[in-house]
Amino acid sequence: MADITGIRTPFYLYDLDLLKKTVSLASSEAGRYGYYIHYAIKANNDPVISSIIRDRGLGADCVSGNEVRRSLEYGFSPDTIVYAGVGKTDEEIKLALSENIFCFNCESVEELEVIGEIARVYGFKARVALRVNPAIEAETHRYITTGLDENKFGISLPHLKKALDICSNSDEIEFVGLHFHIGSQITSLEPYRRLCERVNSIWIEFDIERSGGRILNLGGGFGIDYTDPENNPIPDFGSFFALFNRHLSLPAGTEVRFELGRSLVGQCGRIVTRVLYTKKGVGKKFVITDAGMTELMRPSLYQASHRIINATSTGNPEKYDVVGPVCESTDVFGKDVILPETARGDIIHILSCGAYAGSMTLNFNLRDSAPSFYESGGSILTQTDLQGLNLQNR
Ligand SMILES: *Cc1c(COP(=O)(O)O)cnc(C)c1O
Repeated sequence: MADITGIRTPFYLYDLDLLKKTVSLASSEAGRYGYYIHYAIKANNDPVISSIIRDRGLGADCVSGNEVRRSLEYGFSPDTIVYAGVGKTDEEIKLALSENIFCFNCESVEELEVIGEIARVYGFKARVALRVNPAIEAETHRYITTGLDENKFGISLPHLKKALDICSNSDEIEFVGLHFHIGSQITSLEPYRRLCERVNSIWIEFDIERSGGRILNLGGGFGIDYTDPENNPIPDFGSFFALFNRHLSLPAGTEVRFELGRSLVGQCGRIVTRVLYTKKGVGKKFVITDAGMTELMRPSLYQASHRIINATSTGNPEKYDVVGPVCESTDVFGKDVILPETARGDIIHILSCGAYAGSMTLNFNLRDSAPSFYESGGSILTQTDLQGLNLQNR
């Protein structure tokens, strides 16, 4: 760990060597079977991180017009960009059409009609994959499961036929295939195995091949180890992609794609924060850090837990609630966390903050926004340093 004394806390610290290793491994394991990966840029839209991923040949998966715009600015080629989201505005649809992105992942019959209408008015052709809700339990926290029947995401199976008919009757819409995304932070392969079986049967039942479907996009959701990130920094992409290769049975020529976010970037980031106070409560002790839910919302949003370490102290182990300074009772990073005896000024690291931390920041309490630093080959660099190096060795 390079020296960080003197840098104002809190900040995000990204390990670029780990990021490169992770993305390269994911890419090569997917490549064994000819699978293609889009990076879900909502996980982390940092320019350095996104550029490293783009340079390794991945496409972008966007969920807003601004993410489409930003991906283009970062140099993702339009024909590698896909765009999902249940509430695309007319302006966002028009933007994506005029930038000629690869395809919309369309989430409802109603949206499909609007896309067709806007394409007609402005003289565009819209490539569309239909996002199907396969009614599969993702075995993850209920707030981040997306594939159940009455979920706001995707077209449920009873409406799929109608959506396919709209596509085949439209001159403006080109149906390219089906899209699925069943949830996030999925750590068992079992839901994915069930997804494969569901996909195989949907492909036949709805005669997707005859409708012109040649793309199967399976989304993302592959989880990371939040409990022991130091010993398990890179997800098992080998087993992940091998599972799909084993269980999918689709017509020859069907192209399989994924949209990975967390599994690519989650472990490469940490939050570095300083202890402001250790406060004695009645029955417990609190460590109050200068980072809060404004820098990492996951614990307060969906009861997520992150590994927390004290990088300063070597004292005897004690139990603390580690909390932020924000005026919300849910601004808690961890309860009953065992840390070496902790004092004001100690440096605390919150691990696994590469995904859904920096991209979810809040401005609540008018908090300053935390800067990002990058660790590469043992030195700590700023974005300006990296631009000076022209992102060398990326
Ligand atoms: C968020 C999202 C992803 C990425 O999810 P991860 O859990 O970060 O891999 C992929 N596809 C869609 C449509 C998403 O909304």
